Amino acid sequence: MAFLPFYIPKFKQLKILIVGGGYAGISALTTLLRYMPDANITIIDPRSHHVKITHLHETFRYPLQDFLVPFSTLEQRFGCRHICARLIINRDNIQQWQNDKFITILEETIEFDYILITLGASVEPVDQANNILDLSNFLSTPGPELLNNKLTTINQAKPYISVVGGGATGIQFLFEIDHFIRRQKIECNLRLINGNNRVLQQFPADFSNYTEARMKELNIDFYPDTFYQEQNKDKIILKSKETGENFDLPSIMTLLFLGKNQDNIFSANTFGQVLIDKQPMQNIFTAGDCAHYNSYGSNAMTAQSAVRKGKLSARNILRSSSTLKLFEPYLHHDLGYVVSLGPKDAVGWLALENNVVSGTPALVIKELVECQFDLLLTGIDTYLI
Ligand SMILES: Cc1cc2nc3c(=O)[nH]c(=O)nc-3n(C[C@H](O)[C@H](O)[C@H](O)COP(=O)(O)OP(=O)(O)OC[C@H]3O[C@@H](n4cnc5c(N)ncnc54)[C@H](O)[C@@H]3O)c2cc1C
Repeated sequence: MAFLPFYIPKFKQLKILIVGGGYAGISALTTLLRYMPDANITIIDPRSHHVKITHLHETFRYPLQDFLVPFSTLEQRFGCRHICARLIINRDNIQQWQNDKFITILEETIEFDYILITLGASVEPVDQANNILDLSNFLSTPGPELLNNKLTTINQAKPYISVVGGGATGIQFLFEIDHFIRRQKIECNLRLINGNNRVLQQFPADFSNYTEARMKELNIDFYPDTFYQEQNKDKIILKSKETGENFDLPSIMTLLFLGKNQDNIFSANTFGQVLIDKQPMQNIFTAGDCAHYNSYGSNAMTAQSAVRKGKLSARNILRSSSTLKLFEPYLHHDLGYVVSLGPKDAVGWLALENNVVSGTPALVIKELVECQFDLLLTGIDTYLI
């Protein structure tokens, strides 16, 4: 059993519920077991698999199955239990759970010592139609299948596909789709619609310059300062930010990557405990994209921050159960971020936001970061901080 500073275990096997088995939830699971191997841990998640979601755009090159880890495998590997269900969480039931120390799910009553809420961020809901796709479609069906389903029914020379959203997710999908249609020799045009005047707005301008130059080389049409209104039959209806006027363009299909919803975010103190009316819930912690920590650390909705919050809240859960209740504050700052631009190119920053890297060095950094999480899934923790 590894040593955790300021943790003096009592002779009690803790019962811990982790709600959400994504990056934060899995990081917490492995951290808890590292310091308390006999902890009784239950993961509640409506999916049957943990999804390595940072790879989702790569389903244009690799089978979707490569990025799904069945919870049944994790149950065997880590000796935890998975309940396949969605838990409804709001401030009333958080307070209730803090008082009762049990929840009821699928008609089963489960007692706990601690709950960790790691639901991720919800995405903007969209009107589903067979020519409008969003991230949720890619969770269940591989990218090539989704595209081919539509393209095989179209009788048009060089039709247009529109991608909406120039954030990291939209850009990663855009370049993968471009690579896919070239590789498959599909006669098709691509365009990107973005509400801001440049792509990757949250990053330094060098990110945008590099990415937009690559888009130009690949003949991807770019509509900055333009809002998506709707996909109507074989047209996309758009609105110009400058004039406020609607216009339409031919488009057989729209892929929407509109970003994460800021609703359903739980406020927490710097130790990861959920705050209700500014009061910390002693036994209820939160981590990942759904958690806003009131602290100096990063609240970026990134896998890196999700992993660090998951690990920190796990350590603080253990310390909370210990004789000495000394907690660790959340101080993590992201060490870099890389956006892939297809299989052979990427752009990112390392150490300092203005230290922009691109091409092969950026790709290597991304691979290394993703390998580190893959190792964690097998139970090998290589995170130094
Ligand atoms: C295509 C794509 C590429 C990305 N690339 C990168 C990248 O390169 N680098 C990076 O740092 N970040 C990247 N991100 C962001 C990163 O994936 C997220 O920041 C990270 O997944 C957040 O982890 P999380 O554990 O908070 O949430 P998630 O990983 O989303 O996990 C949340 C889990 O909670 C479950 N859940 C939801 N609601 C409930 C409920 N009510 N009850 C029970 N369970 C529930 C879900 O089923 C899910 O399994 C990318 C995201 C996408 C979509």
